[in-house]
Amino acid sequence: MAFATFSIVPFVRCHFRSEELGGPAFSVTVLIMKLHPEIAKRRNTIVEEHFCGEFWKPCPGTGAGYHCCGYQILSPLTGCGMYCTYCVLQAYLGREEQVVFSNFADLEDEVRSKLAAKEGIIRFGTGELGDSLYLEEQLGICRRIAALLEPYNNVLVEFKTKWDDVRGLDQIKVPGKVVIGFSMNTPAMIECLEYGTASLDRRLEALRRCEEMGFWVAIHFDPMVWYPRWESEYRDVVRRVFDALDDPAHIAWWSLGGFRCVPALKARLKERGLHLPLFSGELVLGEDGKYRYFRSVRVDFYSVVREAVEEYRPETTLYLCMESDEVWRECSMDRRIPGGLPALLDKRAAAMLAI
Ligand code: SF4
Repeated sequence: MAFATFSIVPFVRCHFRSEELGGPAFSVTVLIMKLHPEIAKRRNTIVEEHFCGEFWKPCPGTGAGYHCCGYQILSPLTGCGMYCTYCVLQAYLGREEQVVFSNFADLEDEVRSKLAAKEGIIRFGTGELGDSLYLEEQLGICRRIAALLEPYNNVLVEFKTKWDDVRGLDQIKVPGKVVIGFSMNTPAMIECLEYGTASLDRRLEALRRCEEMGFWVAIHFDPMVWYPRWESEYRDVVRRVFDALDDPAHIAWWSLGGFRCVPALKARLKERGLHLPLFSGELVLGEDGKYRYFRSVRVDFYSVVREAVEEYRPETTLYLCMESDEVWRECSMDRRIPGGLPALLDKRAAAMLAI
Protein backbone atom coordinates (compact mmCIF):
# COMPACT_ATOMS: atom_id res chain seq x y z
CA MET A 1 0.00 0.00 0.00
CA ALA A 2 1.38 3.40 -0.91
CA PHE A 3 0.43 6.71 0.60
CA ALA A 4 0.77 10.11 -0.94
CA THR A 5 0.42 12.56 1.90
CA PHE A 6 0.66 16.28 2.38
CA SER A 7 2.12 17.45 5.61
CA ILE A 8 -0.44 20.02 6.54
CA VAL A 9 -3.27 19.25 8.98
CA PRO A 10 -6.24 18.91 9.31
CA PHE A 11 -6.96 16.46 6.53
CA VAL A 12 -9.82 14.98 4.61
CA ARG A 13 -9.27 11.67 2.87
CA CYS A 14 -9.73 10.75 -0.76
CA HIS A 15 -9.11 7.16 -1.83
CA PHE A 16 -7.93 6.19 -5.27
CA ARG A 17 -7.59 2.47 -6.00
CA SER A 18 -5.47 1.67 -8.99
CA GLU A 19 -6.88 -1.83 -9.46
CA GLU A 20 -10.04 -0.14 -10.75
CA LEU A 21 -7.87 1.03 -13.63
CA GLY A 22 -6.79 -2.52 -14.40
CA GLY A 23 -3.30 -1.69 -13.17
CA PRO A 24 -1.25 -3.36 -10.45
CA ALA A 25 -3.11 -3.76 -7.19
CA PHE A 26 -2.20 -0.97 -4.84
CA SER A 27 -4.20 1.78 -3.29
CA VAL A 28 -3.24 5.36 -2.81
CA THR A 29 -4.75 7.39 -0.05
CA VAL A 30 -4.38 11.06 -0.78
CA LEU A 31 -4.76 13.20 2.27
CA ILE A 32 -5.84 16.60 1.18
CA MET A 33 -5.28 19.67 3.24
CA LYS A 34 -8.36 21.35 4.55
CA LEU A 35 -8.13 25.03 4.06
CA HIS A 36 -5.84 26.65 6.60
CA PRO A 37 -8.07 28.48 9.12
CA GLU A 38 -6.20 31.72 8.49
CA ILE A 39 -6.85 31.51 4.75
CA ALA A 40 -10.49 30.53 5.34
CA LYS A 41 -10.86 33.56 7.58
CA ARG A 42 -9.31 35.89 5.00
CA ARG A 43 -11.54 34.49 2.26
CA ASN A 44 -14.56 35.24 4.43
CA THR A 45 -13.54 38.81 5.06
CA ILE A 46 -15.63 41.27 3.11
CA VAL A 47 -14.22 44.62 2.10
CA GLU A 48 -16.00 47.41 0.29
CA GLU A 49 -14.26 49.26 -2.51
CA HIS A 50 -15.18 51.77 -5.16
CA PHE A 51 -14.75 50.27 -8.62
CA CYS A 52 -13.66 52.62 -11.39
CA GLY A 53 -13.69 50.20 -14.35
CA GLU A 54 -16.46 48.67 -16.44
CA PHE A 55 -18.88 46.41 -14.55
CA TRP A 56 -20.16 44.81 -17.77
CA LYS A 57 -17.73 42.97 -20.01
CA PRO A 58 -18.19 40.25 -22.62
CA CYS A 59 -16.89 36.84 -21.56
CA PRO A 60 -13.23 36.89 -22.64
CA GLY A 61 -13.43 33.30 -23.98
CA THR A 62 -9.98 32.29 -25.13
CA GLY A 63 -10.27 32.42 -28.92
CA ALA A 64 -7.68 30.11 -30.43
CA GLY A 65 -10.26 27.89 -32.12
CA TYR A 66 -12.36 27.13 -29.01
CA HIS A 67 -16.09 27.86 -29.10
CA CYS A 68 -17.20 30.56 -26.63
CA CYS A 69 -20.85 30.87 -25.56
CA GLY A 70 -21.10 34.64 -25.93
CA TYR A 71 -22.03 35.31 -22.34
CA GLN A 72 -22.05 38.85 -20.88
CA ILE A 73 -20.43 39.22 -17.48
CA LEU A 74 -21.55 41.56 -14.73
CA SER A 75 -19.18 41.87 -11.79
CA PRO A 76 -20.66 43.47 -8.68
CA LEU A 77 -18.02 41.77 -6.51
CA THR A 78 -14.88 39.67 -6.70
CA GLY A 79 -13.62 36.75 -4.63
CA CYS A 80 -15.31 33.86 -2.87
CA GLY A 81 -15.61 32.58 0.69
CA MET A 82 -15.44 28.97 -0.46
CA TYR A 83 -12.29 27.43 -1.90
CA CYS A 84 -12.02 25.10 -4.87
CA THR A 85 -8.46 24.01 -5.47
CA TYR A 86 -8.91 24.39 -9.23
CA CYS A 87 -10.36 27.91 -8.98
CA VAL A 88 -8.59 30.18 -11.40
CA LEU A 89 -9.42 33.24 -9.31
CA GLN A 90 -6.51 32.46 -6.99
CA ALA A 91 -4.19 33.00 -9.94
CA TYR A 92 -6.03 36.06 -11.28
CA LEU A 93 -7.09 38.09 -8.28
CA GLY A 94 -3.96 38.02 -6.13
CA ARG A 95 -5.92 38.40 -2.86
CA GLU A 96 -8.18 36.26 -0.71
CA GLU A 97 -10.80 38.73 0.55
CA GLN A 98 -14.19 39.18 -1.04
CA VAL A 99 -14.44 42.67 -2.46
CA VAL A 100 -17.91 44.15 -2.81
CA PHE A 101 -18.11 47.23 -4.98
CA SER A 102 -19.77 50.04 -3.08
CA ASN A 103 -20.86 52.00 -6.16
CA PHE A 104 -23.66 49.66 -7.28
CA ALA A 105 -25.50 52.71 -8.65
CA ASP A 106 -22.71 53.06 -11.24
CA LEU A 107 -23.28 49.45 -12.30
CA GLU A 108 -26.97 50.23 -12.74
CA ASP A 109 -26.25 53.35 -14.78
CA GLU A 110 -23.75 51.53 -16.98
CA VAL A 111 -26.14 48.65 -17.65
CA ARG A 112 -29.07 50.94 -18.45
CA SER A 113 -27.06 53.10 -20.81
CA LYS A 114 -25.46 50.15 -22.65
CA LEU A 115 -28.73 48.23 -22.91
CA ALA A 116 -30.37 51.25 -24.54
CA ALA A 117 -28.03 50.74 -27.50
CA LYS A 118 -28.41 46.94 -27.75
CA GLU A 119 -30.81 44.75 -29.63
CA GLY A 120 -31.30 41.00 -29.67
CA ILE A 121 -30.91 38.47 -26.90
CA ILE A 122 -28.51 39.27 -24.10
CA ARG A 123 -27.47 36.59 -21.63
CA PHE A 124 -25.87 37.99 -18.51
CA GLY A 125 -24.10 36.10 -15.75
CA THR A 126 -22.51 37.20 -12.50
CA GLY A 127 -20.54 34.11 -11.51
CA GLU A 128 -17.27 34.86 -13.28
CA LEU A 129 -15.22 36.56 -10.56
CA GLY A 130 -16.94 35.01 -7.55
CA ASP A 131 -19.87 32.82 -6.58
CA SER A 132 -23.20 34.48 -7.39
CA LEU A 133 -25.12 33.25 -4.34
CA TYR A 134 -22.56 32.90 -1.56
CA LEU A 135 -23.25 36.35 -0.07
CA GLU A 136 -26.83 36.68 -1.25
CA GLU A 137 -28.45 36.43 2.17
CA GLN A 138 -26.19 39.22 3.44
CA LEU A 139 -26.12 41.50 0.43
CA GLY A 140 -29.07 40.75 -1.82
CA ILE A 141 -27.08 41.55 -4.95
CA CYS A 142 -28.84 38.96 -7.14
CA ARG A 143 -32.18 40.42 -6.15
CA ARG A 144 -31.01 43.91 -7.11
CA ILE A 145 -29.61 42.75 -10.44
CA ALA A 146 -32.77 40.82 -11.27
CA ALA A 147 -34.81 43.97 -10.51
CA LEU A 148 -32.48 46.07 -12.68
CA LEU A 149 -32.88 43.73 -15.68
CA GLU A 150 -36.56 42.95 -15.22
CA PRO A 151 -37.89 45.65 -17.61
CA TYR A 152 -35.89 44.32 -20.58
CA ASN A 153 -37.79 41.65 -22.51
CA ASN A 154 -34.71 40.48 -24.40
CA VAL A 155 -32.51 39.95 -21.34
CA LEU A 156 -31.87 36.90 -19.17
CA VAL A 157 -29.52 36.67 -16.23
CA GLU A 158 -27.90 33.59 -14.76
CA PHE A 159 -26.63 33.37 -11.20
CA LYS A 160 -24.06 30.58 -10.97
CA THR A 161 -23.28 28.88 -7.72
CA LYS A 162 -21.93 26.02 -5.66
CA TRP A 163 -23.88 27.29 -2.70
CA ASP A 164 -27.35 26.27 -1.55
CA ASP A 165 -28.84 29.14 0.40
CA VAL A 166 -31.57 30.25 -1.98
CA ARG A 167 -34.02 31.62 0.58
CA GLY A 168 -33.79 35.28 -0.43
CA LEU A 169 -34.38 34.53 -4.09
CA ASP A 170 -38.11 34.28 -3.48
CA GLN A 171 -38.12 38.09 -3.44
CA ILE A 172 -37.31 38.16 -7.17
CA LYS A 173 -40.53 39.26 -8.80
CA VAL A 174 -40.14 37.66 -12.23
CA PRO A 175 -38.29 34.35 -11.80
CA GLY A 176 -39.02 33.43 -15.42
CA LYS A 177 -36.29 35.87 -16.52
CA VAL A 178 -33.71 34.38 -14.19
CA VAL A 179 -31.61 31.23 -14.37
CA ILE A 180 -30.04 29.74 -11.26
CA GLY A 181 -27.04 27.77 -12.48
CA PHE A 182 -25.71 24.99 -10.27
CA SER A 183 -22.19 23.80 -10.73
CA MET A 184 -22.33 20.08 -9.95
CA ASN A 185 -19.63 17.53 -9.37
CA THR A 186 -19.44 14.04 -7.97
CA PRO A 187 -19.48 13.71 -4.17
CA ALA A 188 -15.88 12.41 -4.29
CA MET A 189 -14.63 15.45 -6.20
CA ILE A 190 -16.64 17.87 -4.08
CA GLU A 191 -14.98 16.42 -1.00
CA CYS A 192 -11.51 16.43 -2.53
CA LEU A 193 -11.51 19.71 -4.39
CA GLU A 194 -14.32 22.04 -3.33
CA TYR A 195 -13.71 23.10 0.24
CA GLY A 196 -16.58 24.81 2.03
CA THR A 197 -19.06 24.40 -0.83
CA ALA A 198 -22.51 22.84 -0.45
CA SER A 199 -22.57 19.06 -0.74
CA LEU A 200 -24.18 17.48 -3.79
CA ASP A 201 -27.26 16.62 -1.71
CA ARG A 202 -27.62 20.24 -0.65
CA ARG A 203 -27.12 21.56 -4.18
CA LEU A 204 -29.76 19.16 -5.49
CA GLU A 205 -32.19 20.28 -2.82
CA ALA A 206 -31.50 23.93 -3.72
CA LEU A 207 -32.01 23.05 -7.39
CA ARG A 208 -35.38 21.58 -6.54
CA ARG A 209 -36.36 24.63 -4.51
CA CYS A 210 -35.37 26.99 -7.33
CA GLU A 211 -37.51 25.06 -9.79
CA GLU A 212 -40.37 25.23 -7.30
CA MET A 213 -39.95 29.03 -7.05
CA GLY A 214 -40.35 29.29 -10.83
CA PHE A 215 -36.76 29.89 -11.88
CA TRP A 216 -35.07 28.33 -14.84
CA VAL A 217 -32.19 26.18 -13.69
CA ALA A 218 -28.90 25.42 -15.37
CA ILE A 219 -26.44 22.63 -14.71
CA HIS A 220 -22.72 22.96 -15.12
CA PHE A 221 -20.41 19.95 -15.07
CA ASP A 222 -17.31 22.09 -15.13
CA PRO A 223 -14.66 21.15 -14.33
CA MET A 224 -15.04 17.43 -14.91
CA VAL A 225 -12.09 15.69 -13.32
CA TRP A 226 -10.62 12.34 -14.24
CA TYR A 227 -10.33 9.73 -11.47
CA PRO A 228 -11.13 6.03 -11.14
CA ARG A 229 -14.90 5.56 -11.27
CA TRP A 230 -15.43 8.96 -12.90
CA GLU A 231 -17.76 7.48 -15.49
CA SER A 232 -20.21 5.75 -13.17
CA GLU A 233 -20.14 8.62 -10.68
CA TYR A 234 -20.80 11.39 -13.23
CA ARG A 235 -23.60 9.23 -14.68
CA ASP A 236 -25.02 9.00 -11.20
CA VAL A 237 -24.99 12.77 -10.78
CA VAL A 238 -26.93 13.07 -14.07
CA ARG A 239 -29.49 10.63 -12.72
CA ARG A 240 -29.80 12.54 -9.47
CA VAL A 241 -30.29 15.87 -11.26
CA PHE A 242 -33.21 14.46 -13.24
CA ASP A 243 -34.62 12.80 -10.13
CA ALA A 244 -34.52 16.12 -8.28
CA LEU A 245 -36.48 18.03 -10.90
CA ASP A 246 -40.21 17.99 -11.30
CA ASP A 247 -40.01 18.87 -15.01
CA PRO A 248 -36.65 18.68 -16.82
CA ALA A 249 -37.95 21.19 -19.38
CA HIS A 250 -37.06 23.77 -16.73
CA ILE A 251 -33.37 23.16 -17.45
CA ALA A 252 -32.25 26.24 -19.36
CA TRP A 253 -28.98 24.69 -20.48
CA TRP A 254 -26.33 22.27 -19.32
CA SER A 255 -22.63 22.87 -19.89
CA LEU A 256 -19.69 20.49 -19.85
CA GLY A 257 -16.02 21.28 -19.49
CA GLY A 258 -12.99 19.23 -18.54
CA PHE A 259 -10.53 20.60 -15.99
CA ARG A 260 -8.28 23.20 -17.59
CA CYS A 261 -6.16 25.99 -16.19
CA VAL A 262 -3.50 28.57 -16.81
CA PRO A 263 0.04 27.46 -15.89
CA ALA A 264 0.12 30.09 -13.13
CA LEU A 265 -2.53 28.08 -11.25
CA LYS A 266 -0.34 24.99 -11.20
CA ALA A 267 2.51 27.01 -9.75
CA ARG A 268 0.21 28.52 -7.14
CA LEU A 269 -1.13 25.10 -6.08
CA LYS A 270 2.36 23.68 -5.92
CA GLU A 271 3.27 26.38 -3.41
CA ARG A 272 0.39 25.10 -1.26
CA GLY A 273 1.11 21.41 -1.88
CA LEU A 274 -2.32 20.97 -3.43
CA HIS A 275 -1.45 20.19 -7.04
CA LEU A 276 -1.28 16.39 -7.01
CA PRO A 277 -4.93 15.37 -7.35
CA LEU A 278 -5.32 17.65 -10.36
CA PHE A 279 -1.96 17.35 -12.01
CA SER A 280 -1.02 13.74 -11.37
CA GLY A 281 -1.96 12.64 -14.90
CA GLU A 282 -0.76 14.02 -18.21
CA LEU A 283 -2.16 17.30 -19.45
CA VAL A 284 -1.44 19.12 -22.67
CA LEU A 285 -0.92 22.79 -23.26
CA GLY A 286 -3.76 23.98 -25.54
CA GLU A 287 -3.67 26.58 -28.28
CA ASP A 288 -4.95 29.09 -25.74
CA GLY A 289 -2.00 28.50 -23.38
CA LYS A 290 -4.08 26.48 -20.86
CA TYR A 291 -3.37 23.00 -19.57
CA ARG A 292 -6.18 20.57 -20.32
CA TYR A 293 -6.75 16.83 -20.58
CA PHE A 294 -5.87 15.02 -23.78
CA ARG A 295 -8.57 15.22 -26.40
CA SER A 296 -9.50 11.53 -26.03
CA VAL A 297 -10.18 12.03 -22.31
CA ARG A 298 -12.33 15.10 -22.93
CA VAL A 299 -14.25 13.33 -25.68
CA ASP A 300 -14.89 10.41 -23.30
CA PHE A 301 -16.17 12.79 -20.61
CA TYR A 302 -18.56 14.59 -22.91
CA SER A 303 -19.78 11.48 -24.76
CA VAL A 304 -20.66 9.74 -21.51
CA VAL A 305 -22.57 12.70 -20.10
CA ARG A 306 -24.28 13.46 -23.43
CA GLU A 307 -25.51 9.88 -23.62
CA ALA A 308 -26.68 9.95 -20.01
CA VAL A 309 -28.54 13.25 -20.43
CA GLU A 310 -30.11 12.15 -23.71
CA GLU A 311 -31.50 9.05 -22.03
CA TYR A 312 -33.60 11.33 -19.85
CA ARG A 313 -34.32 14.27 -22.15
CA PRO A 314 -32.62 14.40 -25.56
CA GLU A 315 -33.77 17.94 -26.26
CA THR A 316 -31.83 19.35 -23.28
CA THR A 317 -29.67 22.26 -24.43
CA LEU A 318 -26.28 20.71 -23.82
CA TYR A 319 -23.08 22.50 -24.76
CA LEU A 320 -19.33 22.37 -24.32
CA CYS A 321 -17.42 25.19 -22.71
CA MET A 322 -14.34 26.31 -24.63
CA GLU A 323 -13.90 23.29 -26.87
CA SER A 324 -12.61 22.85 -30.39
CA ASP A 325 -14.47 21.80 -33.56
CA GLU A 326 -12.79 18.39 -33.38
CA VAL A 327 -14.07 17.71 -29.88
CA TRP A 328 -17.61 18.84 -30.71
CA ARG A 329 -17.52 16.50 -33.69
CA GLU A 330 -15.92 13.51 -31.95
CA CYS A 331 -18.48 13.46 -29.17
CA SER A 332 -21.31 13.84 -31.69
CA MET A 333 -22.38 17.25 -30.52
CA ASP A 334 -21.49 19.34 -33.58
CA ARG A 335 -25.00 18.92 -35.00
CA ARG A 336 -26.25 21.03 -32.09
CA ILE A 337 -24.43 24.14 -33.26
CA PRO A 338 -24.94 24.55 -37.02
CA GLY A 339 -25.09 28.32 -36.53
CA GLY A 340 -22.46 28.47 -33.77
CA LEU A 341 -22.67 28.15 -29.99
CA PRO A 342 -24.00 31.65 -29.19
CA ALA A 343 -26.84 31.06 -31.68
CA LEU A 344 -27.82 27.82 -29.90
CA LEU A 345 -28.01 29.56 -26.53
CA ASP A 346 -29.72 32.67 -27.90
CA LYS A 347 -32.37 30.46 -29.48
CA ARG A 348 -32.91 28.71 -26.17
CA ALA A 349 -33.05 32.05 -24.32
CA ALA A 350 -35.58 33.41 -26.84
CA ALA A 351 -37.79 30.39 -26.23
CA MET A 352 -37.47 30.84 -22.47
CA LEU A 353 -38.40 34.52 -22.76
CA ALA A 354 -41.20 33.66 -25.19
CA ILE A 355 -40.03 36.20 -27.78
S1 SF4 B 1 -17.10 28.35 -5.69
FE1 SF4 B 1 -16.47 29.19 -7.69
S2 SF4 B 1 -15.60 31.20 -7.21
FE2 SF4 B 1 -15.70 30.02 -5.28
S3 SF4 B 1 -13.68 29.07 -5.11
FE3 SF4 B 1 -15.04 27.58 -6.12
S4 SF4 B 1 -14.72 27.95 -8.32
FE4 SF4 B 1 -13.89 29.73 -7.24
